[in-house]
Amino acid sequence: GSLIPGDTLDLDLEQILGILEAVWRRGDKMLERALYAHADSVTKRFCGGAVYYRGLVEFSNVCQNDCSYCGIRNHQKDVWRYTMPEEEVVEVAKWALENGIRNIMLQSGELHTEQRLEYLERVVRAIRQETVAQDLAMRAERAKSGGAEASHASGGPVEGQLADEELGVVVSLSVGELPIDHYERLFRAGARRYLIRIETSNPDLYAALHPPPLSWEHRVECLRNLKKVGYMLGTGVMVGLPGQTLRDLAGDVLFFKEIKADMIGMGPFITQDGTPATEKWTSLYPNADKTAHMQAMFDLTTAMNALVRITMGNVNISATTALQAVIPTGREIALERGANVVMPILTPTKYRESYQLYEGKPCITDTAVQCRRCLDMRLNSVGKISAAGVWGDPASFLHP
Ligand code: SAM
Repeated sequence: GSLIPGDTLDLDLEQILGILEAVWRRGDKMLERALYAHADSVTKRFCGGAVYYRGLVEFSNVCQNDCSYCGIRNHQKDVWRYTMPEEEVVEVAKWALENGIRNIMLQSGELHTEQRLEYLERVVRAIRQETVAQDLAMRAERAKSGGAEASHASGGPVEGQLADEELGVVVSLSVGELPIDHYERLFRAGARRYLIRIETSNPDLYAALHPPPLSWEHRVECLRNLKKVGYMLGTGVMVGLPGQTLRDLAGDVLFFKEIKADMIGMGPFITQDGTPATEKWTSLYPNADKTAHMQAMFDLTTAMNALVRITMGNVNISATTALQAVIPTGREIALERGANVVMPILTPTKYRESYQLYEGKPCITDTAVQCRRCLDMRLNSVGKISAAGVWGDPASFLHP
């Protein structure tokens, strides 16, 4: 039938696979253009031209896991391990609010100790308390000066929709697989969103990349537990993992739907010296033209974003940092192919070099101020504007 702009589609595995194969073969430019244009029409239907910022704070690179692709895995050599002092994390959150970023994602390696849990509880509580107070003070100040300024500068279609309870900075966590009671304690401390990528929906491929005790089944259980506790759930995969097939990727799109994800973040797998996955990748493709390969992975990743947008409609989809690592304007391109979220890195500069998950991770010498300014310009270059000042919950979460 004819395709109405903005319509979501119920694609099955074979249909998704057919589209991914066409993108991979690179023979059907018409189809690719139609895919991206339709995804953009669905994004515009739900988000207008508004893009949400999520400030990423990589507060610790200490990790007890050994994921075979990751540059901060437990056995990765020559990594200076750090954990940011609590006050420093809270300061970043306050800076974010002042700069119109109302969503902070605290990310780290995995450490399942009581001490780490208590650190996180204190940090989340302090961020909530201090940014709510700061927000009330900022609003009182604005009211005093006549309230001429809009309460949040540039919001596009979401302007004016700031609910009363959306005070302060909302805290997302990305700290891995924890028992459900830890998820509950962090929720009670005030965290409301949680990102944990499934990495791949194929259990065998997962097992090949994650040595025991890690298991695909446990990761899925964590996703379900997070939903049960009431978090807004983010997940995602890497594209181009050694041994991954297009059928696996098609299955990933359906997995996100099945698990009822509210946010999806996907990035290309990028090699990192000293990791087993990179050795495996190199042995699988000894003569690979890396630049051409990464360009193909970039397109596959954005095609995946487009397919998620078209099949899931109103969810949040990130234009991830790994896309920018492949093409400097990668995130802007992704915003025209289904994505509606960007994640400026707010990690203080002195720690960035040690959170090197993969080669060529961008912006490691930048400051948060530079990242924020640079992003505004990048959004404008593709006709989008930052929905500063709102939390940006997708309707999938508000009206499940
Ligand atoms: N430990 C937490 C977890 O597993 O959810 C969060 C931190 S982990 C470093 C964040 C993400 O980095 C992973 O979910 C993975 O998808 C991504 N990542 C790690 N190594 C990568 C690589 N070589 N290329 C691309 N992405 C990578």
